[in-house]
Amino acid sequence: MDICFFDKQKISVTVDVFEKDNSGDEYLGTDHLKYLPLGTMTLDFIETDFNNFVSFQGFITIWGLSGFIAYSENAKNVVGTERDFKEDEYTRILHEIHEEVKDKIISAQDEIKHVAYTCLDYNGPDWSRGLTSKQRHYIMIETWNGSNFETRDYNNRVTIKYYTELSKDLQKKVFYSENSLSEGDLAKLILNDNPVFVEVYGSEDIASLCLIEIKEMLANGTMIKKCKNCNRYFLNSGKKEYCDRTVFVDSNGTPRTCQMIGPKKAFLDNPAKKVYSKAYRTLHNRLKKGGKYRVNKDELDFWRAAAKAKLEEVEKGEITLEEFSQWLADTIKSFREWIKEGLQWQA
Ligand SMILES: [Zn+2]
Repeated sequence: MDICFFDKQKISVTVDVFEKDNSGDEYLGTDHLKYLPLGTMTLDFIETDFNNFVSFQGFITIWGLSGFIAYSENAKNVVGTERDFKEDEYTRILHEIHEEVKDKIISAQDEIKHVAYTCLDYNGPDWSRGLTSKQRHYIMIETWNGSNFETRDYNNRVTIKYYTELSKDLQKKVFYSENSLSEGDLAKLILNDNPVFVEVYGSEDIASLCLIEIKEMLANGTMIKKCKNCNRYFLNSGKKEYCDRTVFVDSNGTPRTCQMIGPKKAFLDNPAKKVYSKAYRTLHNRLKKGGKYRVNKDELDFWRAAAKAKLEEVEKGEITLEEFSQWLADTIKSFREWIKEGLQWQA
């Protein structure tokens, strides 16, 4: 499995696939080329439940099997991809590999979680406040008290293959290298294509590749954050608190994401805001009513400002939730008297 970094923003991953030519001979082709935001693989690795076979299978579908070779004798012997096998056969092999790697992968995953939390999480350890991710990383390395991790740092885990490529994409890499071109021809191609230098790392250890990706994230200041709704990591851009994962699809067929539903849900999950919201609705429903239940827009606004101020008191711990609920109930119950007094006081 190769991981390739483009202009520090995107990664691509290739999974080696053996293809057959006309005479039936196998050759190494390039397949499953993907361009994804930097950090995608690491977060997917962190968030996958490797105890669960279906989740494991989902991860393999995206990132391939070769990152598991370091953990599995069986994976070493798989040549080709799913389509080279009979359906049941491939699933059976995957089951075997899953059994074989599960525990090892979960402990590798724990290490990656630790590195990600320590270096990249906006809400990381207390000591990390005000430090850059690079400074945090330095501290993590300097103070690591276990031996396990240190002996398996980048240099020991990775650099199976490493080279600099002259290409925008790996399809072109194949093109450049398959033809034995002269310097002049190459120069022409490069002038014409204006390719960029990219770094390619290869490893049979998925955790190693995650560490490489994390290293790039450190260099870029790419941070991660836990979504306030689903509590899963996402690549953070600016002040976002919620991720873009789809939570459900509404009746119009529109996907609703954490970003869309999270803020309202958080509001309603707060007990004080919930009772406030209920009280507001009660008064709002009276807007068109007459008699002693009448409420007009100005009165509602006046009440709302007072209720919001009370709500803040609850949040500061100055009054209890019970006192706030009582206040809401009282003001609603004798709204006309309350508003009269309030407006007099205001005047
Ligand atoms: Zn989310």
